Amino acid sequence: MPKGSELARFRKQLLTWFQQFQRDLPWRRDIDPYRVWLSEIMLQQTRVAAVIPYYERFLERFPDVRALAEAPQEEVLRLWSGLGYYSRARNLQKAAQAIVAKHGGTFPKSLEDALALPGIGAYTAAAILSIAYGKELAVLDGNVARVLARLCAVRGDLRAPKRWQALQERADSLLDHESPGNWNQAMMELGATLCTPRSPQCLLCPVADACEARKLGIAELLPEKRRKREAVAVVLAAAVFVDAKERTLLLAPPTSEKGANPAGVADHVPTLVSKMWHFPTVSASEDPAPELGRFVRAMLGKRALTFDLEAAEKVRHAVTYRDITIFPFRISCKTLPQVAGAEAFPLDDLSSIAISNLTRKVAASVLAQARSTKRPLHRVTVAVRAASAGNR
Ligand code: SF4
Repeated sequence: MPKGSELARFRKQLLTWFQQFQRDLPWRRDIDPYRVWLSEIMLQQTRVAAVIPYYERFLERFPDVRALAEAPQEEVLRLWSGLGYYSRARNLQKAAQAIVAKHGGTFPKSLEDALALPGIGAYTAAAILSIAYGKELAVLDGNVARVLARLCAVRGDLRAPKRWQALQERADSLLDHESPGNWNQAMMELGATLCTPRSPQCLLCPVADACEARKLGIAELLPEKRRKREAVAVVLAAAVFVDAKERTLLLAPPTSEKGANPAGVADHVPTLVSKMWHFPTVSASEDPAPELGRFVRAMLGKRALTFDLEAAEKVRHAVTYRDITIFPFRISCKTLPQVAGAEAFPLDDLSSIAISNLTRKVAASVLAQARSTKRPLHRVTVAVRAASAGNR
């Protein structure tokens, strides 16, 4: 850990490098608390390249806090659709509403007020307040922790509470008090561009002479691997009704974790569809067609018709520790059945509503099967009940 004149030199080296080599990112062009906040939320768990088009579209539609606070939630989610971790979008809007109600529409300047907003934790508050208002708060996230662990040759699990606390103290003591916003961005930039998880580029690093891990030749070995939570396998089956006009049926966003599906089956489907519009979906096991048939029967009620469940290519999807396999089944019908809360949408264009990537993949699988000359992978006839369409 550099101290005294070494510390002054260390700060100068990193800040000079940042001024010279920082990437030209849209949220750096106009330092405005709303823009900084939006970018920080979008960048959580998401790569910069993926965020940029979402950030620009979102700002165009919601140019300030008030526009975001007053928008229908459905529209906020639609513009977030594809970026994942949708609770971020919901919290962003709730926070915008709180900022309008309690802070006159301007992101609060105090740490206490910032931390009281939905979706704002210690890292995000420090990032926004230092960049937008020059507050002396050092950021610490996985990226910065990796840089610090290498600079100070810290071994062990960085997320262990005591070790994380020690890293925060190191981050605090390195912080440049003249320009904390630039300092935090410089640390993050170093982690994102040179001090990357694999193959750190120490030869180009502006602070290589102060780096303990480089001196010890262990830069690539740090941080030491954490034991990963074991992946949980989840199997689902989805019913993709398709009518003569190629419209499909989507269920409205589930509102609770349990008992949310029409068959009254309590499962984790609401979480996995990110509480957004979704195909009728059920947890399944080894033989998904009959299970989906029973689910569809329960969903549709008393009038009976017989449909084919036509299997499309299965879809794989990962959400945090869940490793999902979903079996999509096309159910071709003249008219879509009536289901409470469900609506009809063109299967090949679901852009008008908020859907998760999982739902998008299911639609793509069924569309690919329709375009393919291959026979369906599997066809099962199940007696299900249908009514005439009354959906939009
Ligand atoms: S010298 Fe290498 S390991 Fe050390 S901070 Fe720089 S890039 Fe990271």
